[in-house]
Amino acid sequence: MRVPVVYSQVMVADSGHEVSPSASKPGLVAAALKAQEYAVDIVAPEPVSAEDFIRVHDPRFVKAVLEGREDNGFGNRSAEVAASLPYTTGSLLTACKIALGPSRPMVVASLSSGFHHARFAKAADFCTFNGLMVTAAYLLANSRVKRVAILDADYHYGDGTDEILDQTGLRANVFHLSFGQEFKRPDQADAFFARLEALEQDLRRFEPQVILYQAGADAHIDDPLGGFLTTEQMGARDEKIFSLGKQLGIPIVFNLAGGYQRDADGGISKVVRLHLNTFSAALRVHDTGA
Ligand SMILES: [Zn+2]
Repeated sequence: MRVPVVYSQVMVADSGHEVSPSASKPGLVAAALKAQEYAVDIVAPEPVSAEDFIRVHDPRFVKAVLEGREDNGFGNRSAEVAASLPYTTGSLLTACKIALGPSRPMVVASLSSGFHHARFAKAADFCTFNGLMVTAAYLLANSRVKRVAILDADYHYGDGTDEILDQTGLRANVFHLSFGQEFKRPDQADAFFARLEALEQDLRRFEPQVILYQAGADAHIDDPLGGFLTTEQMGARDEKIFSLGKQLGIPIVFNLAGGYQRDADGGISKVVRLHLNTFSAALRVHDTGA
């Protein structure tokens, strides 16, 4: 199997933020995938439009952020960040269009970050617009699918996603599970894996036609903003999710979401490694029949 990976330089902007590497991370992950000869094909994202954002956000808020009159998720009004927003969300939507398109790949990646704290009318915690909900709403509005599942395994609770689901009335068509709402500590790892096991029944009942999977690297036990799973457990997490998709015949579109570990020299090689491990898990499941 080869994994289409939606990314281009236009998704990358200098956020001016020291904690979150999310603006520079996609380029580093893309470079590492290439350098380590992963079986991936890089595809450029199509941008989404203001109308696409407005489907799940307050129109006034969308306009103000895009025009630099209101703060983005990094707490500034950078024109560079504003210009990247149609492409970061666009990368997730483009990835879904590929997954639902004629070649039907079972796994597609979007090198985008978390999205999930972005609320109906407010940016928060590195998230400006909620690309998960923009994507789900687009697919539903354009009759590409009838049901979408969002499996959010970032360490943090996807509060913005829940708010938008309530605000837009899309809950009947979107299955949303944010593990970060419940699983926070290393002693909950067993309960987390039990929840993953139970997920199969949920998905069989809901019958989503595509799964959006936030494969957050901040779930790692060493992450300064998160942490309850070891590297090995994170591999088991990813493998379980990809196996479920394979078993149920549902394509999985995954993205990077959070990850904040720093190397001694300030680099993010540990975070990049964790993201590559997610690609490894997808390839392992589909190439070796795991
Ligand atoms: Zn997070």
